[in-house]
Parts: sequence; C-alpha cells; structure tokens
Amino acid sequence: MGCLFCNIVEKKIPADVVHDDEHTLAFRDIRPVAPTHVLVIPKKHVAAIHDLEPADAETIGRVLVAARRVADQLGLADAGYRLVVNDGEAAGQTVHHIHVHLLGGRALTWPPG
Ligand code: AMP
Ligand code: ZN
Repeated sequence: MGCLFCNIVEKKIPADVVHDDEHTLAFRDIRPVAPTHVLVIPKKHVAAIHDLEPADAETIGRVLVAARRVADQLGLADAGYRLVVNDGEAAGQTVHHIHVHLLGGRALTWPPG
C-alpha cells in the first residue's frame, strides 16, 4: 500500500488538486472542517515535523510558500486563515506524511481543541 499522500503525489489515488509544482502539492481535504480546507504537502516523503533534518529546511519552507499562494488563489488572504500541523499521536496526526492544513472561510476559534 505505502504512504497515502505519496500515492496522491504519484497520482495512484485521485485528489482534488488546487496547486501542483515541482516540490509541493495541495489538494482539498476529503473531510473538510472549514469551508476551505486544503492540505499542502511536500512531494518528498517526510513522515512528521519531528523527522525533519536541517537539510529539509528548504522543503518545508516551500510548503509554507505554497500554502501562502493557495490562500491567495482561493481568496483567503484578506479575511485571514489558519495553518495547522498535527505532529504525532497526541495532536491527532493520522497520515504520516507531513501536511499543513490550510483552513479558512469562517471565523476560527482559539485555542483549538
Ligand atoms: P491529520 O489528522 O492531521 O493527520 O490529517 C489528515 C487529514 O487527511 C485528515 O483531515 C483527513 O480528512 C485527510 N485525508 C485522509 N485521506 C484523504 C484523501 N484521500 N484525500 C484528501 N484528504 C484525505
Ligand atoms: Zn509519503
């Protein structure tokens, strides 16, 4: 089976892609928790933030720049939006390929649950 998000990168599993470049991919979350809920991932497999090495700094930086672009593209920039990364079990990480949740389109409460 392998990694779910690597399979999406390799187009073995379909996704509603909103951004695709050499290093990153962004697609709509299958179970959205906000009017706009997109996952932004590096094409390179890294399981979690806690597995990042210094050499991955550019990779993770590109993910944030892609998230910023998608937020612009989907019209979220003026109202604002939230980026979330769940890392590990206590945070509720279920897919072990780094992904930044881009949430917008409604007021978001703080602190999160
Ligand atoms: P996390 O709980 O932070 O690991 O987030 C994983 C996210 O992946 C969840 O919000 C799921 O709804 C989402 N997800 C799982 N499978 C898919 C899929 N095939 N396509 C899009 N999103 C998915
Ligand atoms: Zn992967």
